[in-house]
Amino acid sequence: MRATPPYVPGEQPKAGAQVIKLNTNENPYPPSPRVLDAMGRGLAETLRLYPDPDATALRRRAASVYGVPVDSILVGNGSDELLSLLVRAVVDPGGAVAYPVPTYSLYRTLVDLHEARAVEVPFPGDWRLPPALAEVEASLTFLCNPNAPSGTVVPIAQIAELARRVHGVLVVDEAYVDFAADHALRLLPDYPNVVVLRTLSKSFSLAGLRVGLAFAHPDLIDGLRTVKDSYNVNRLTQLGAEAALGDLPVMERNVERIRATRTVLIAELEQLGFTVPPSEANFVLARRAGRSMAPVAGALAARGILVRHFAVPGLDDALRITVGTDEEIAAFLAALRAVLAGG
Ligand SMILES: *Cc1c(COP(=O)(O)O)cnc(C)c1O
Repeated sequence: MRATPPYVPGEQPKAGAQVIKLNTNENPYPPSPRVLDAMGRGLAETLRLYPDPDATALRRRAASVYGVPVDSILVGNGSDELLSLLVRAVVDPGGAVAYPVPTYSLYRTLVDLHEARAVEVPFPGDWRLPPALAEVEASLTFLCNPNAPSGTVVPIAQIAELARRVHGVLVVDEAYVDFAADHALRLLPDYPNVVVLRTLSKSFSLAGLRVGLAFAHPDLIDGLRTVKDSYNVNRLTQLGAEAALGDLPVMERNVERIRATRTVLIAELEQLGFTVPPSEANFVLARRAGRSMAPVAGALAARGILVRHFAVPGLDDALRITVGTDEEIAAFLAALRAVLAGG
């Protein structure tokens, strides 16, 4: 076996466990009921036949929702699969892949598996785009926007400038963009080297369905298609995703609630002496000067509340808290107050 360090996902408690789960940025609200209806009808039809390798109906729906041509869209088994396809299709073994850190740790895992070279450019303390990122001679550059785990955003005009300056393909990973004020899809017509990634896992409450969307110039999309499995997205998932994109008001209402709860959560954390960078995602990153957060995360878990603590340099003193329901966040804040008071 090769010795690449694995991507470590957040903990998924066993079914039935009574926990408040604020550790993997899932949506606390259910998806559109139309998703289940469509999948139920699909079940009654046929699972005997292979799914459409091109997810044609789903891509047509996405094209009309996002105002992007159908041939500029590829569907993945989650945007994680699309990230993997991008590395395989774009990067030669030994080639450089650049991205600012801290960020989504899967990028590093994928680069290592491909035996490519990760060039990690640190974000400054205020999470602005590091100018050195554009200087790297990378065939692929990742920008997670809003960034995980900070929740911060780089303005779209600066992403356009980055797209002009990078040497190869620029991937803007917009997993959390529905919780933000702006997005990068409008860059596509002018920048044939830009790929925008979306997922139904966060804002659409469908992490279990596994649907990601890549938007890019048709030539780039063609290149990705040549390295994907033919049947990467199953029949039921295609039907469910098409239904979800056909019912945006449910997603938008859930996003509005999460934004409102986020405002409260940030204010309360600041009251407790935490520093929280401005988040445009469905999570916040909280630090309290001079205090390691590992024991705090442990004490919260003992009280049945899971948040994410990253035991890596640069993030050891931080907690990432997913924005849950108002009730979940109230319970989290009560537990946090008790833990902090307890030493
Ligand atoms: C959740 C997440 C993904 C993965 O989304 P899936 O569609 O569930 O695979 C990709 N990038 C970032 C930054 C994420 O947070």
